[in-house]
Amino acid sequence: MLIVKKFGGSSVANKERIFNVASRCVEDYKAGHDVVVVLSAMGDTTDELIALAQDINPNPKKRELDMLMATGEQVSVSLMAMAMHSMDVPAVSLNAFQVQMHSTSRYGNARFKRIDKDRIMHELDSRKIVIVTGFQGINKYDDVTTLGRGGSDTTAVALAAALHADKCEIYTDVDGVYTADPRVVKNAMKLNEVTYDEMLELASLGAKVLHNRSVEMAKKYGVELVVRSSLNRSEGTVIKEKAKMEKMLITGVAADVNTARISVIGVEDKPGTAFRIFNTLAKNNINVDIILQSVGRDGTKDISFTVSQDDLKDAMNVLEEHKEALTIQQITNNPNVAKISVIGAGMMSNPGVAARMFESLYNSRININMISTSEIRITVLVDEKDVDKAMNAVHDGFIMTE
Ligand code: ADP
Ligand code: ASP
Ligand code: MG
Repeated sequence: MLIVKKFGGSSVANKERIFNVASRCVEDYKAGHDVVVVLSAMGDTTDELIALAQDINPNPKKRELDMLMATGEQVSVSLMAMAMHSMDVPAVSLNAFQVQMHSTSRYGNARFKRIDKDRIMHELDSRKIVIVTGFQGINKYDDVTTLGRGGSDTTAVALAAALHADKCEIYTDVDGVYTADPRVVKNAMKLNEVTYDEMLELASLGAKVLHNRSVEMAKKYGVELVVRSSLNRSEGTVIKEKAKMEKMLITGVAADVNTARISVIGVEDKPGTAFRIFNTLAKNNINVDIILQSVGRDGTKDISFTVSQDDLKDAMNVLEEHKEALTIQQITNNPNVAKISVIGAGMMSNPGVAARMFESLYNSRININMISTSEIRITVLVDEKDVDKAMNAVHDGFIMTE
């Protein structure tokens, strides 16, 4: 059997944890399996590297930032190989260049295009454990790229798909996927199974337990995932096409604090205004999420929308630059907002879900700024200071009353 095992930063944060991971991998290896290990940078290394960059230059070029961030993963894979060697187990560490993991050229947010199998297969054939850097790729300029924060999950799934692995296991610091972040919501419950679609919504809406691209890719290539703890032996959560119905109205609640609201005030109330505003943002690679337009008055209207906090500066600059052409009188923004979403295929056929969510928020006296819905989710925008309270209120309003 070929097994891909991915371990996140906290699972390799120190010497003891590195040996713990090494032992778990060696167990599979000694049982006769081919083992490919994907690692993240140790502990908070990536954050520390970003801080180091900011200290030198508050606006580092993305190419150089990727070059820097990618070093974190190289530290953990080489140390892991050394740990295995000290246990007399043959192992080799490889980075994205050595494997040839080709990505798009966009620094900081690259996507995999093609992965060579040859080097890895060759190493596995000589009975080595292969340890690969997560989070990084190489682009057409032979530069190092990174996949976006949390991207090591995507490396694992991409390798599992390319190598036709029999298993892809994502080891982290919680026991699996829960109905909400178990560090924030005391009553969160572990899910035994989740569908790709529900997991994709959860991950995209802020549940950082899996990188959303990893779920997208797992669905596309039919890679069944298991999310479980590196610190104990509990079973974890299986993510696949069809999950056993757990008879719950909702699958989970997610929060995303990486959100900012922008309002453009006093724009012309005539056809084409919204098109021109959002087209200008799209052309500058700025993703817009929830949109709210006011009723027109005196020939003008206001439009508010959310963007990710990472894009706020760019979005404000673009709008300022085109302020006159877009007929905007005033632009305001608020970075201290958060999205709270409930997700679940069960809500498609149940009209009471939105009302129940709003009731839970009302009972906790939390004000809703904006609302957006789709077939399997409802998202509201709240003040960032309310986010933990809102998560608990919404979660318990659904899960605890089932
Ligand atoms: P790793 O370093 O292993 O990749 P992450 O920090 O990226 O770990 O992701 C794991 C964290 O995700 C958990 O510690 C937990 O706080 C958070 N999390 C958020 N939402 C959920 C959820 N629905 N289920 C489980 N964990 C969640
Ligand atoms: N080390 C990277 C990060 O912190 C990638 C990952 O952990 O998945 O974002
Ligand atoms: Mg992660």
